[in-house]
Amino acid sequence: MSKTPNEKPPEKLTGIRLTEVPKTAVGVKAIVSAVTHVKNEVGVAKGIQLLSKINQIDGFDCPGCAWPDPDEKRAFLAEYCENGAKAIAEEATKNKVSPIFFATNSVQELSKLSDYEIGKSGRITHPMYLSEGKDNYEKISWENAFKIIGEELNSLDSPDEAIFYTSGRTSNEAAFLYQLFVRQFGTNNLPDCSNMCHESSGAALSETLGIGKGSVTLEDFNHADLVIVIGQNPGTNHPRMLTALSDAKKQGGKIITINPLPEVGLMNYKAPQNPLKWIGSGQQLTDLFLQVKINGDVALLKIILKLMKEKEDDEPNSVFNHKFIKEKTAGIDALLKDLDLYSIEELLPQTGLKLSEIKETTELIINNENIIICWAMGLTQHKNAVDNIRELVNILLLKGSIGKKGAGTCPVRGHSNVQGDRTMGIWERPKASFLDSLEKEFKFKAPRKHGFDVVEAIDAMYKKKAKVFFGMGGNFISATPDTSFTAKALRNCNLTVHVSTKLNRSHLITGKSAIILPCLGRTEKDFQENKEQFVSVENSMGVVHQSKGTLKPCSKELLSEPAIVAGVANATLKKSTTNWSKLISNYDLIRTKIEATIPGFENYNERIRIKGGFYLPNNARKSDFTPTKTGKANFSINKPSEIELDKHQFMMMTIRTHDQYNTTIYGLDDRYRGVLNERRIIFMNENDMKLLHLKKLDVVDITSHFKNEKREAKGFLAVPYNIPKQCTATYFPEANVLVPLKSKADISNTPASKTVIITIKKR
Ligand code: SF4
Repeated sequence: MSKTPNEKPPEKLTGIRLTEVPKTAVGVKAIVSAVTHVKNEVGVAKGIQLLSKINQIDGFDCPGCAWPDPDEKRAFLAEYCENGAKAIAEEATKNKVSPIFFATNSVQELSKLSDYEIGKSGRITHPMYLSEGKDNYEKISWENAFKIIGEELNSLDSPDEAIFYTSGRTSNEAAFLYQLFVRQFGTNNLPDCSNMCHESSGAALSETLGIGKGSVTLEDFNHADLVIVIGQNPGTNHPRMLTALSDAKKQGGKIITINPLPEVGLMNYKAPQNPLKWIGSGQQLTDLFLQVKINGDVALLKIILKLMKEKEDDEPNSVFNHKFIKEKTAGIDALLKDLDLYSIEELLPQTGLKLSEIKETTELIINNENIIICWAMGLTQHKNAVDNIRELVNILLLKGSIGKKGAGTCPVRGHSNVQGDRTMGIWERPKASFLDSLEKEFKFKAPRKHGFDVVEAIDAMYKKKAKVFFGMGGNFISATPDTSFTAKALRNCNLTVHVSTKLNRSHLITGKSAIILPCLGRTEKDFQENKEQFVSVENSMGVVHQSKGTLKPCSKELLSEPAIVAGVANATLKKSTTNWSKLISNYDLIRTKIEATIPGFENYNERIRIKGGFYLPNNARKSDFTPTKTGKANFSINKPSEIELDKHQFMMMTIRTHDQYNTTIYGLDDRYRGVLNERRIIFMNENDMKLLHLKKLDVVDITSHFKNEKREAKGFLAVPYNIPKQCTATYFPEANVLVPLKSKADISNTPASKTVIITIKKR
């Protein structure tokens, strides 16, 4: 957008193309897109080898989302989705970022590229060092890299001046060693990507059900009478979930979708594995679509609860599962009293819906026993995100629809091992019992003071209270909110270190000096002392299973994540009770230590070799809520959103395109929303555009407003779309600059990337 936009039409300027929004999702188009991407990035032969192993019992786990694989039989041809194929193609790409690449491309030059272009540069082949004052990274030996990191860490006045971030791709074995190193170093500063995604779910579910994870299994979808999908777009973010929804429908189940956007993936589905299904209009998934306004969720759910109560008051025992409520729950009286404090009339405008639609939804909930509720970021990234999720649980508890077949909670995790990392102790607020077991097993004094989460870590770096940033995977600057503020924070550091597979923008927004440590990918073979190793991960439903690479590493200079942690630990910890080099010589030794310190991993090395792995204990799945404060499942009192927009303002939510996975941009198309070849766009309601005298593809500047602060993002194209009035949507990371760091969810501290108040000005 360097040139003045008004000279050329946007199409000419950016090459944007708008198409009809498709009526069906997946089908042959998804196959063509996946195969083309793999062929272009990896080549045919290696591509076939990779696709034959992804999510297979003896293969590697998809580095994409955390949707589970079937327990029993895996699909022979394709146990993966379009975006899973793209994820592995990106990792196994032919493109390499070598020392020569860095010698000929300075940080400044690379910074001018888009995130898409930076990512397409490829896999980093050698450890690289950007020394203070230099603008080009230079090759460095592993030994020297570890030495510099160790010296910098030991030069800090306190271990709490270092931040150790984790992205959800990190395996169990690497995550366990990493948190152990960080705690032996002396801090709990272990923020992770979960802080920005399902932290709100963890907080709400731990309080109400006694476990921060979902309760359902994949099999439960075959037994559900009703599946509610709220604040989630599985067609793009968890595509194999469409198979589970399709199976639920085939068993006679009904599906309700609640979302500000009518995402095609939830409307009509064409099963890719069945050529007969490629023709025709596909299988209708959603029976009832509620196009709720952004952040209108608690208001909507509270109306449903009020209508359920009204029916129960009129016809006792017709709605509430009194046996379950009496035996298993606490707090119903307070809930029923709270519901009486609200009128449907005052709540309805916040939803943007007709009462008739909500009544129809409530009827479906009343008339069905086995209900599964699925959600993702559309609920977790709001100021009242924890309220959103607790209110969902209230509905399930009134129905007794949890802890039995075909029923329960299903927060769908976005990163392949984000749940596993938390189970391994990657958390800035560790439980005392976990630290006790670490101390006992490793004979050291663990830090007890809670550490910084993502928002607090950025603030600490900005205020120079933290001076070293260490990122285990991920792309911190592009994943986090308030981009300009976060960039300043990172630049305040003495040293920034990234363990990465591919080049990304976080390698270009650095501290005074920076180091890149290139690691093995999930698709690559991992040998330690000439013995092939495998790692393990935990999916969204708590199944821990193996992942074993199949390709020769793209460079001889790569190290595995566990080996990198051991290298840093050996170079940093003067007196450690742990033999790091021995632990990484055979990952069974790491798993033995996990078994000794984390409940649920008994006979870990034996069970991880069972085909498909094993389920971790889940009290809610067994209708046992004893871990909660009351020893029962807790009803809760929740607040609708208090945000009020004035007539010139809009609510903005950041979303992903169909060609993106978190901050990895596979391509520039958003095929499922009819936008091709452009990412700087803002979806707007057509009438809102008329009110602002905006035409399709007019260039606009966006300003966000938070307390008395303003943030700007310039040069977006206005795209008319089927979205509620005064609601808008933009893509991240492009719009993250508009998301204030301090605008975050109560209790969970998750950045409120789905509730950003903006104004829009035509250029
Ligand atoms: S649904 Fe998720 S885990 Fe499964 S193949 Fe697709 S991206 Fe990978």
